[in-house]
Amino acid sequence: MLKLSKFLIPYKRKILFMLVMLFFQVSGTLYLPTLTAEIVNNGIVKGDIDFVWKTGCLMLITAILTAGISILATYLSISAFSAVGRDIRNSLFRKSQELSISEFNSFGPASMITRCTHDVEQVQEAYMEAIEMLLPAPVMAIAGLVLAFRKSTSLALLIAVSTFTICVLMFLFNARAIRLFNKLQKMLDGINRNLREILTGMRDIRAYNRELYEQERTDRVFENFSVLAVDVNRLFSFLMPLILAVMNICTILIIIIGGNSIGAGKMEIGDIMAMIEYAALILMNMTMGIMVFMDMPQAQTCAERIREVLECRKTQPHENEPEYSHLLGEKIRRLVFCSVSFRYKDADEAVLSDISFTAEAGKTTAVIGCTGSGKTTLVNLIPRFFDYQSGTIFINDTDIKQIPLVELRKHIGFVPQKSYLFSGTIQDIFRCGKEDATEEEMRHAAKTAQIDEFINGLEDGYKTKVSQGGTNFSGGQRQRFAIARALVRKPDIYIFDDSFSALDFKTDLMLRTTLKNEVGNAIVIIIAQRISTIVDADQIIVLDKGRITGIGTHQKLIQNCETYRQIARSQLREDEPL
Ligand code: ADP
Repeated sequence: MLKLSKFLIPYKRKILFMLVMLFFQVSGTLYLPTLTAEIVNNGIVKGDIDFVWKTGCLMLITAILTAGISILATYLSISAFSAVGRDIRNSLFRKSQELSISEFNSFGPASMITRCTHDVEQVQEAYMEAIEMLLPAPVMAIAGLVLAFRKSTSLALLIAVSTFTICVLMFLFNARAIRLFNKLQKMLDGINRNLREILTGMRDIRAYNRELYEQERTDRVFENFSVLAVDVNRLFSFLMPLILAVMNICTILIIIIGGNSIGAGKMEIGDIMAMIEYAALILMNMTMGIMVFMDMPQAQTCAERIREVLECRKTQPHENEPEYSHLLGEKIRRLVFCSVSFRYKDADEAVLSDISFTAEAGKTTAVIGCTGSGKTTLVNLIPRFFDYQSGTIFINDTDIKQIPLVELRKHIGFVPQKSYLFSGTIQDIFRCGKEDATEEEMRHAAKTAQIDEFINGLEDGYKTKVSQGGTNFSGGQRQRFAIARALVRKPDIYIFDDSFSALDFKTDLMLRTTLKNEVGNAIVIIIAQRISTIVDADQIIVLDKGRITGIGTHQKLIQNCETYRQIARSQLREDEPL
């Protein structure tokens, strides 16, 4: 929590003003019991009606002012801390965008959502409660005790002992609460992960009649969560009655000891009433403070999780972002893989080993291989979604690790295997590729990607709404949109990761023909399952278990690469020549 307090700095004036308000609120609240003693001792007991009226009015004004100040303080607090919550959320989101894919994966989307929503809310509330309730509690206790000591030392000591007892109870319970809250938080992450998976895979669950299984699985997770939540609440169910018992015993003792003092003529009845009010105020405020304090471990856990993301790069070494690149403004002529090897984080074996090849501008390089041979991983290394452990990838003569990420990715048009279309309009899809794309550029890219006709057939054309993930389009349409999005960018390097698989043969052929004229002098890298898609490629790289087993043209590979021959044979009819 302390480490996140830098987010409070922009609102320090508001918070300071709020603290002043709270000071007046505490003073007003403590002044009331003193007035009670006065009104009883000097007004009611002595029968001075004038004094009762005057003091009564003063009490009323004090009460109204205190309430007004309290409302103002609450308003200030809400406006300041909502802004703090917004700032933390913004920073978290910005950071999540900056993280590398493996860093992001180490948190996972579900946990990231919990951190951005629930965790931020907890921290925001904790700051608010800490300043509104936790901070005034000790001030109220100390000031109240000073006032109580002025009336009766023995009764003030009694209130002090009761306050101390409550503090001890608080610390004892708190130690256990921290552990339970940590567990609860992790479980909440699990629930989010589970729900996300189920909601995303709803269609598959129904298709395979897995409803009952998923229901049971979810029930189990919810059950575990509720058991732990009951544990936490059980802890508090003991605490509150204990605190109330301390408060009641304290009041009874004040009445007994105070009654004796009145009998002995040492105290007046108004003083006893004031002491009861002081005790109630001090103990009530301490109890509220305790309840807030009880929320602190949970908020602390949430703050820790937020900090983990915000300071992610400090815990996970990441390639430093160079500020200057040799690439700026230079035309990209070639992409060179030089003995590149890569292993996923926490994996035992390398997915890619000793990969070396050169992809030239104006030429198409195709990558083929069985599922799991490392094709997607290979192309993911180019925009640096993951960083390789050994070897080097050069663009022209510059190591890509020396190129700032934004600059590097600006030159790449990436069409992933499963493209995600963001909600908005069809125009927005193109603008995601190029922010200032003109209508002409959009139409041109759409034509090349063979999606123009489809768009024109839609009632709202380029203004048609796209639902989240592009689910209102078919798989093939989504792929063509993703291709158009990359084309409109006119990048120097095109990467198509199995982007033609959802297209029918005719569209695939037409797209490849138009694409050839479109990409011009760019480097094109195509991953494909179908030999027919890549048969014309200038060079084909054959991958097998993360190693290159052949590089060359179709004809050359048919002659001297067994893996390629096997793939080709599996895709041709028996009587068709290779
Ligand atoms: P291909 O595209 O040829 O089908 P991939 O590059 O997707 O193959 O995957 C190659 C291997 O890397 C597979 O064995 C897969 O299990 C593993 N792999 C892929 N992505 C990850 C990941 N994010 N974390 C760990 N292993 C992965």
